Amino acid sequence: MFKVTGVARFALLEKISASLPLTEAEEAEWQRAKARVQQICQHAYDHKLSIMIDAEESWIQLAIDQLAEEMIALFNTEKVVVYNTLQMYRIDRLDFLKEARQKASEGGYYLGVKLVRGAYMEKERERAKEKGYESPIQPDKEASDRDYDAGVQFVVEHLDHMSLVAGSHNENSAQKLVDLMQEHGLESNDPRLWFSQLYGMSDNLSFNLAHEGYNVVKYLPFGPIIETLPYLIRRAEENTSAAGQTGRELALIKKELERRGIE
Ligand SMILES: Cc1cc2nc3c(=O)[nH]c(=O)nc-3n(C[C@H](O)[C@H](O)[C@H](O)COP(=O)(O)OP(=O)(O)OC[C@H]3O[C@@H](n4cnc5c(N)ncnc54)[C@H](O)[C@@H]3O)c2cc1C
Repeated sequence: MFKVTGVARFALLEKISASLPLTEAEEAEWQRAKARVQQICQHAYDHKLSIMIDAEESWIQLAIDQLAEEMIALFNTEKVVVYNTLQMYRIDRLDFLKEARQKASEGGYYLGVKLVRGAYMEKERERAKEKGYESPIQPDKEASDRDYDAGVQFVVEHLDHMSLVAGSHNENSAQKLVDLMQEHGLESNDPRLWFSQLYGMSDNLSFNLAHEGYNVVKYLPFGPIIETLPYLIRRAEENTSAAGQTGRELALIKKELERRGIE
């Protein structure tokens, strides 16, 4: 997985996403950024790996989506190598998913999607309020959950040309995907379906899924400390505040320590 903002300037992505004209120098800069992304995808392709492009703030996402679509069309002709990420806390992403699938089947390539709920909720809402536009984020958690699960269901129902990475620490969502796979008679290790959690978070989910034969990817953040630490703190806060997943994980660890007789 990687973030396009790691290889392209944020303000440039913002300008492209707002459909503003680029100067000649900016156009050259954009071509260089695209070439970097293509090089990363080519590397994954050459080494028979998968690569996921992270989703970021909505005001730069259009540029990221365009780039991801180009890479997907280029590298996913035989199977899924490149995945784009869809944040289902956005009100428009379920339609986006269906359109992307339609484009892929018309274009004759495979579509890879990483589905997540989305990490920038407060920031998105604040900016929308400040600038006076309608927030792109779902009105409540239930709506995000509903679209996330509907997105997962859509992929499972259209698996012939799609592949999914379910990036979530939510136990209910993981259970729903397991149930769906069983309903559709899919093998637990079907190569088109992956569960993914952050390294060191929700290990109870990852380990149990892997133990039952499901495909699991642990996401290990790598980068400068100044960026990775705040990133991890945000993820830990989300998990505690939204669904109490971290609290539950700690209780499970405590129980296991007691079982082993360790205080
Ligand atoms: C492997 C992996 C990859 C990831 N990649 C990305 C990425 O590329 N881009 C990205 O943005 N995030 C990414 N994330 C983070 C992800 O978007 C979530 O922020 C995080 O995983 C928490 O969601 P959850 O499904 O795990 O758990 P839950 O606790 O079930 O959900 C919490 C999430 O629900 C949503 N939510 C909470 N309250 C509300 C509310 N009041 N109204 C509307 N929605 C609400 C928010 O999105 C919040 O983060 C990734 C996570 C993982 C595990």
